Amino acid sequence: MHTSPIPSDQQPPVARAIVREVGLRDGLQSIATVVSTAHKIDWINAAYAAGQREIEVGSFVPARLLPQLADTAEVLAHAKTLPGLVASVLVPNFKGAERALDCGADLMVVPLSASHAHSLANLRKTPDEVVAEVARIRALRDASGHRTLIEGGVGTAFGCTLQGEVAESEVLRLMQALLDAGADHVSLADTVGFADPASVARLFEKARALVGDRLACAHFHDTRGMGLANVYAAWQTGITRFDACLAGIGGCPHAPGASGNVTTEDLVFMLERMGVATGIDVTALLALRQRVAGWLAGETLHGTLWQAGLPQNAAPAALRESATA
Ligand SMILES: [Zn+2]
Repeated sequence: MHTSPIPSDQQPPVARAIVREVGLRDGLQSIATVVSTAHKIDWINAAYAAGQREIEVGSFVPARLLPQLADTAEVLAHAKTLPGLVASVLVPNFKGAERALDCGADLMVVPLSASHAHSLANLRKTPDEVVAEVARIRALRDASGHRTLIEGGVGTAFGCTLQGEVAESEVLRLMQALLDAGADHVSLADTVGFADPASVARLFEKARALVGDRLACAHFHDTRGMGLANVYAAWQTGITRFDACLAGIGGCPHAPGASGNVTTEDLVFMLERMGVATGIDVTALLALRQRVAGWLAGETLHGTLWQAGLPQNAAPAALRESATA
């Protein structure tokens, strides 16, 4: 039992955040190694045992485009056996959404690129054509009777390699358009590492003023070393869900050697140090990282915590808290 002298009904609410693992999708799709289905299942089981409750397990794209994710249906079927796990998939189009619904995904992320040039190059659609596709996906979902949530993921929200600047007004317009088209919630992504903490604070403030909690997630890449600073800036605006990749795997085809998403174990460590409960055991994540590194021999991994290890005699604040409970 808790031994705090403060009566429980007078204690301040515990700050909490969700770290959604996207390494099995965003990470693996960007590297050459094809991880076996058995190892992916192993990864999901260990992440779940470490306390992760939201995992993006793959993407419903044609196998010829991304052979690394060809087994998404099988991996998703396993993820669905773990109680309380929110298993999400990325779906680039209507066909992908059909598969996500058939397979009973808890959540599907439909990517939209706020950069017109990036959208045409990657999705072969304009951003507004993607919005129209989301409306069709919503109608399909409603007709199917499935409960799969639809997340509109607004990418290149802070700039783009092809187009350069992406206007904030355009990001906000498309975010609202996705919700109007039937997305249950939206997320903002710095797909190519253009964001900095000041631009994150500015855009997330405006986005939250516009749609409130329906802006449900922040997705940062650590391409230029500002990933965790950007997470902190978004956290300050009230965002409590962040995407991250174990070992920071992934990258960017336009920037060879560039790192992928914010590193899961570093992010969990930072949040716990800040007194923000994630429900995730960082020691278990470090052990998992070591195993995943073994499956990815030859690939460039990222992250900092694994090199220094956890500080001795200085448990993260949230861990100290639970130790006295
Ligand atoms: Zn990404």
